[in-house]
Amino acid sequence: MSGQDQFQELVRDTHDSGIGYVPYFGFQISEKAPEFALYYPHVGPGGTEQPYIAPNTTPAKSYSVCYGSIWGDHWLRGLARFVRDYPVDGIYMDGTLCPGACTNASHGHKLRDSRGRVVPYFTTREMRRFALLLHATTRGQRPGMLWDLHSSGQLLGVSMSLVDVEWNGEQVWRYDPQWKVPLDVYRAQFNGRLYGMPIQYLTNQAHEYYQRDLGVTLLFDALLRPMEGLGLWQQDTFRLWRLFDEYELRGEYFTPFYAADARYRDASGQGLVSHYETPRRTVLVVSNYQGTSPVNASLDFACTPLATATFARDIRTGEELPIHDSVLKVALPAEGYRMLSVEPR
Ligand SMILES: [Zn+2]
Repeated sequence: MSGQDQFQELVRDTHDSGIGYVPYFGFQISEKAPEFALYYPHVGPGGTEQPYIAPNTTPAKSYSVCYGSIWGDHWLRGLARFVRDYPVDGIYMDGTLCPGACTNASHGHKLRDSRGRVVPYFTTREMRRFALLLHATTRGQRPGMLWDLHSSGQLLGVSMSLVDVEWNGEQVWRYDPQWKVPLDVYRAQFNGRLYGMPIQYLTNQAHEYYQRDLGVTLLFDALLRPMEGLGLWQQDTFRLWRLFDEYELRGEYFTPFYAADARYRDASGQGLVSHYETPRRTVLVVSNYQGTSPVNASLDFACTPLATATFARDIRTGEELPIHDSVLKVALPAEGYRMLSVEPR
């Protein structure tokens, strides 16, 4: 059986199991690729680059490519054939749509400053063209194909206006796993809501930061994506994903804590409150992510659609919290959060 036949069978088996097939694409070329020797000198970003060696694979060095070079057209031609020949359900792009820095003179990307020093050219315009051609190449043949982009913080209209789901966060834990993402950084770099799409956040590798990270991601309608393994905390993540489906927690129902129409606030001024208003209920995300000590948050529901509600339910533990005289008290540990469902009576 040829490699093509095996892949056809793999995609078919995946579909037979009720699962979509979304293959991985990156932003590099491997030295093992047949076209490496011919192409790389013409498609690399110039300068010297430390090669990437993927863990847990046959050791091979990979190098970045510039999609503003002939590589972009070569890749698109190959992808058009790939989509024609295999019924994949989408493409997963690891940085593929992120404009890189390039100094390769053969692409016209070697710029100099007023002192004659070479400065990197960022391929933003080239990436826009590339993304539009990719759209025609993939969705032109199969409308509705999923585009899942790993953007590493590069939330740019050149690609975000086209992708369906974006994930982010690896760049945070890679440099300092203890770093707590400031809210403003989160809002700027991790906010898929700006582009009307869901966003996922790759959590720190260290599980001790898992609950703390949820305290910020959930404030922004972002789900965590586990790094590796199937330990207890990953199982908890998958349970949370299921709860999002069960409670219909979707972007169109979401209002972040900083929005002008965020009608629920913590009267103590310490906790932050984002919320989902679904056709059936309101789900509040009450977070003490910024706090280094416990907080007793107090939410006044008078003059809101929840004015007559008598209790809130913690969607993760099932615990019922009473609402007295339209006021809900929520005890939050330092850096902790709760997700509470409230149904109007
Ligand atoms: Zn270039």
